[in-house]
Amino acid sequence: MVAQNFDVVIAGGGLAGSSLGGVLARSGLGVLVVEKESGFRDRIRGELAWPWGHSEALRAGLGEALDEAGVVTQPMLDFYGDGQCVDSVRWEEISIDGLPAIAFSHPHLQETLLTWAASQGATVLRPAKVVGVSDGNRPGVTVVEDGRQTELRPRLIVGADGKSSGARRWLGADTVTDPEHHRFGGLLVSGVTWDDTFGWATTPGAAVGWFATVKDSGRVYIRLDVDRVRETGVGRTFDAFCAFAAEFMPEGTLAGARQAGPMGFFQNSCTWSSRIALGHLVLVGDAAGALDPTQGLGTSLLFRDVRALSELLLADADWDRATSEFARQRQAYYEVLRAYDRWCALLDSEEGPEADRRRELNFAAREKDPTLGGFAILEACGPDGLVPDDAARRIYFGE
Ligand SMILES: Cc1cc2nc3c(=O)[nH]c(=O)nc-3n(C[C@H](O)[C@H](O)[C@H](O)COP(=O)(O)OP(=O)(O)OC[C@H]3O[C@@H](n4cnc5c(N)ncnc54)[C@H](O)[C@@H]3O)c2cc1C
Repeated sequence: MVAQNFDVVIAGGGLAGSSLGGVLARSGLGVLVVEKESGFRDRIRGELAWPWGHSEALRAGLGEALDEAGVVTQPMLDFYGDGQCVDSVRWEEISIDGLPAIAFSHPHLQETLLTWAASQGATVLRPAKVVGVSDGNRPGVTVVEDGRQTELRPRLIVGADGKSSGARRWLGADTVTDPEHHRFGGLLVSGVTWDDTFGWATTPGAAVGWFATVKDSGRVYIRLDVDRVRETGVGRTFDAFCAFAAEFMPEGTLAGARQAGPMGFFQNSCTWSSRIALGHLVLVGDAAGALDPTQGLGTSLLFRDVRALSELLLADADWDRATSEFARQRQAYYEVLRAYDRWCALLDSEEGPEADRRRELNFAAREKDPTLGGFAILEACGPDGLVPDDAARRIYFGE
C-alpha cells in the first residue's frame, strides 16, 4: 500500500475518475486513483460521446488519451424509417469547432484512461476500495487493498464511484431518482462491418440505435417501455433481441452478427445526489448525477465535470470555494440535461392522440426554428446558455 501524502484521492477509476486523475496529475498535483475492479468488462455502458462531449474531452486535455484508445469518429447521425435512411445530420455543420461524435469500446477506454492517468503521474491502486471517509481539518479516507486497511489524509476526496455511488453517504447526501418512463437496453455484437455513422430508427412505441465501436464490432440499443420488454421477450435471448432490432434496420444489417457481451435493459430514470460538494468532498460523473441513457449524454456530462472541476481547482488555492462553485455550475448544467431527457421521453416515446399532437406541434416549431431555442442542438453544442424553464419548454413543444 502507498504511504505517500496525496493532494487528491479519487474513489473510482471509471471514465470520470481516471480522466480527472490524469488531468490533475499532469498539472503537478499528487493524485491517487482507487479502482475496485482488477480489470474492466462490458457492463453495457456509454460508447458514444456526442460532438459536445468530444469538445469537452479535448478542452479538458484528453485528446492524446482518446487517440491512444483508438476512438472512432462519427461525422453523421442518420435517421431511419422503414429500414431506409430518411434524414441525416452532418455534425461539422452545427457542432462546436465542427467536431464529429466519437465512438469507443467502454472497457477499452476505461483501461486506456487509467493507464494514461498513471502516465501523467497519478498513482493507480487496483484492485482496491475506498471504504469510508472521516472529516476534520484534513479529511481522512480509508482504502482497503489486499485485505489491508490504510488511512490517508489528502486535501480533497473525489467520489467518482458511479450511479449507485456510496460516496454520496460520505457527504450526508440522499440519492434522488426520477420515476421510470421506459427501459433502455443494449448488446454488443461482433461479425458486423458498419460504416462510421450512428443509425437511429424511432417510432412512438420503440427505437433502435446502432453504431460501430471498433472494427468488426458494434453496439445495438433498444428503447421500449417496460411492459413491451416483458411481452416481446426482447431481453431474454440474443435471437429475440436481434429479431426485434432488425425490424428497424436496413435489411441485412445484423446478418452474421454474434453476441459479444452481456445483454441488459435498464430503467431510463435520471438519478442524482442531493448534494455534490461538502468541505473536502466532491462528486463527479454518474456519482454526482446520472442521466437517462436514451439520449446518450452521460459521457459528455462527465467530460464536462472533469474540465469544470479541474479548471476550478487549478485556478483557486481555496478548494472549499472551488468545489462549492463546481457544485453550483454542475447543478445548473445537469438540470438543463435532465429537462432535455424528460422532454425527449415525452416527445419520442409515447403513443396515442395526445402524444401525436405533441409531435405535430414540435414538428411545426422546428420548421420555424430548427434549434428549438437551442435544445434541439444540445448534442452538438452543449447546455451552455440554455435555461430549462417553462418558456424554453413551450418553445420545444411548439405550444
Ligand atoms: C445502457 C446504457 C447506455 C448508455 N449509453 C450512453 C451513450 O451512448 N453515451 C453516453 O455518453 N453515455 C451513455 N451511458 C452513460 C454512461 O455509461 C455513464 O454516464 C458513464 O459510464 C459514467 O461513468 P463514471 O465514471 O461516472 O461511472 P462508472 O462507469 O460507474 O465508474 C465508477 C467506477 O468506480 C468504481 N468504484 C465504485 N465504488 C468504488 C469504491 N468504493 N472504491 C473504488 N472504486 C469504486 C467502479 O468499479 C467503477 O469502475 C449509458 C448508460 C447505460 C446504462
